[in-house]
Amino acid sequence: MNIPLPTKNLNASKLYIKDGILYLRHGESFLNVMYRLTYFMKGRHYCYYCKKRFPRSEITMDHMYPRSLGGPTIPQNLLPSCKSCNGDKSDMTYEQYITLLSLDDYSQIGYINKINSLKEGYKRIGIFQIPSEWITPVETDRIHTNVDFANLVNSKYDKVKKYYETYGAFQYPIVLDRKYHSLDGFYVLFVAKSMNIEYVPAIVLDNVEMR
Ligand SMILES: [Zn+2]
Repeated sequence: MNIPLPTKNLNASKLYIKDGILYLRHGESFLNVMYRLTYFMKGRHYCYYCKKRFPRSEITMDHMYPRSLGGPTIPQNLLPSCKSCNGDKSDMTYEQYITLLSLDDYSQIGYINKINSLKEGYKRIGIFQIPSEWITPVETDRIHTNVDFANLVNSKYDKVKKYYETYGAFQYPIVLDRKYHSLDGFYVLFVAKSMNIEYVPAIVLDNVEMR
């Protein structure tokens, strides 16, 4: 899949875009670039939930599909929002939060219970709540990375592994560039390698390349 890229003011964006491809320069953080790109395209002063304007320091980045549900850090899934809305939304999806806001106090309680059981249901059948067309299974052996796995054995590794052992699926997909270089979700790759899991769920960004 492609991520949206600006076509105007490329110099102002401070992003290296050439022939429709976003290049990550050596040492540049993928997550940082995705945040900068999204702020550049969607603004830094406006909350997309309460529709109010804020000083730049009050705006945070919301994951429309939360990270805990497999939501990736790509512009399609990022929305500038004020701290208060971001906190209230918590780990609901964009759609769920918008629905919640339309309900009266009494109905909200029932709705939150419904969301939570839905979330557990999705986990149990091993699927993500993010759009299925974003995800491609990729052979673990075809993925390469600069990250040194020796530094990644820690509590986060254990958490990803435990989730896999409990649900028989990964909690989130790995994000890859067009040459299958890993950009985010390194723990998924590491756990897959250590457990000899042949395929991992991946979001392949066809217009991004790490240099
Ligand atoms: Zn807000």
